[in-house]
Amino acid sequence: MAFCLRCINRFPAATSLVCLLFLFFFVAVPGVDAAGGPEWSYDAESESGPEYWGDISEKYKACKEGLSQSPVDIAGALDVALPRIEFNYAPTKLNIINNGHTIVVKYDKGSSITIAKEKYKLMQFHFHTPSEHLIDGLPAVMEMHLVHKSNRGKLAVVGVLFHVGAENINFESIWANLPERPRQKRSVGVKINAIELLPGSKSYYAYSGSLTTPPCTEGVKWHVLRAPLEVSEEQLLKIESILGANSRLVQPLNERELKK
Ligand SMILES: [Zn+2]
Repeated sequence: MAFCLRCINRFPAATSLVCLLFLFFFVAVPGVDAAGGPEWSYDAESESGPEYWGDISEKYKACKEGLSQSPVDIAGALDVALPRIEFNYAPTKLNIINNGHTIVVKYDKGSSITIAKEKYKLMQFHFHTPSEHLIDGLPAVMEMHLVHKSNRGKLAVVGVLFHVGAENINFESIWANLPERPRQKRSVGVKINAIELLPGSKSYYAYSGSLTTPPCTEGVKWHVLRAPLEVSEEQLLKIESILGANSRLVQPLNERELKK
């Protein structure tokens, strides 16, 4: 900002465009969410915090008015014959972004899941500490969300819960390259395959929910894997020191059914 005032004083006409560009990139952008919407946060004390997400923007009104919001407390799921999730994951280059809300691993094209003949392409996966979903009222220390999108634009998320235990070596290359500051990116020459980041058993809890961040869009198919994974205390501390607490509180189930 000081740069702009100085240059406007010295070169009033010629620099106005440069200054506008400066203001846009260095002043305006930090007030805008990575997805392009107005700023929001996980700070419960702030007016941009979860309790007020629905008031920040008309675009975010599902956050307060939606009746099918996520996450939820998964308890008393009905035992039904859920269709198997077919995982067709290929390796991806490691592109990791700290978007100021979470750590996102962007996934190369060519990986998908198929559920009941509907194909959803894997777009990215990211992390929440502690977990967003609860199981019988209890949180896990971390949750990973693998976000998939069908050609019709339908979203299907696979959630994986983590408890503290042994070091999880499958996450080694990601953890060695976690971008610590918002807007920081790391592109690494190694390849990973997300199938190796999942538990062996792919049985899951299912329900219809929403994005857990603004705009809290509904119609998201949730599949929270029933088998948790482990991360070491050290691995947990490393990602917690970057993310802080980035989990939305559980939302009312209302008329929805939880299935397993
Ligand atoms: Zn998420």
